[in-house]
Amino acid sequence: MKHYAKPLSRLIAELSKLPGIGGKTAQRLAFHILAQDDAEANALAEAIMDAKKNMKYCSVCGNLTDVDPCSICTDQTRDRSVICVVESPRDVSAMERIREFQGLYHVLHGAISPMDGIGPEDINLKQLIIRLQQEDVREVILATNPNIEGEATAMYTARLIKPSGIKVSRIAHGVPVGGDLEYADEVTLSKAMEGRREL
Ligand SMILES: [Zn+2]
Repeated sequence: MKHYAKPLSRLIAELSKLPGIGGKTAQRLAFHILAQDDAEANALAEAIMDAKKNMKYCSVCGNLTDVDPCSICTDQTRDRSVICVVESPRDVSAMERIREFQGLYHVLHGAISPMDGIGPEDINLKQLIIRLQQEDVREVILATNPNIEGEATAMYTARLIKPSGIKVSRIAHGVPVGGDLEYADEVTLSKAMEGRREL
């Protein structure tokens, strides 16, 4: 990028840090932004800063929200006795798309991965245990991703909860193994929930 003027190469460098954006795409986006009028470019910059400033993690479930607790946690029409445990806020969006699950969520913000040095204390597990002690929960559905880390996290969490007598279930392998929950289509996800088995 040496042949680009500094402000342009800086923009390209920042864009190429985004997931799924390679060098070529970053260049195309940068040139596109520069071709926009000021109002459009400003709207993009402001949307980024506004989302960054006003979105936070729900202090109860860990989901991304602009109000704390989030609208799912405070929705009194939802079934408060079932908690679906997922790895990321993107998984909550995927589950909400199928519009079948009426319970609450808990977002772990990751999965246990000894290879990467991520242990149980590095994810949002402690808060889940606190919730289970405070709330009247009858089932915890483990909907972590169907890969090694997701399975390890599900097993660990199940062992942690079991002594409390709360029912613990794992979603079925309708979601392709190694695939991410967030990319599963609605039918697959809905079947995975339906076919969940008790651990
Ligand atoms: Zn919440």
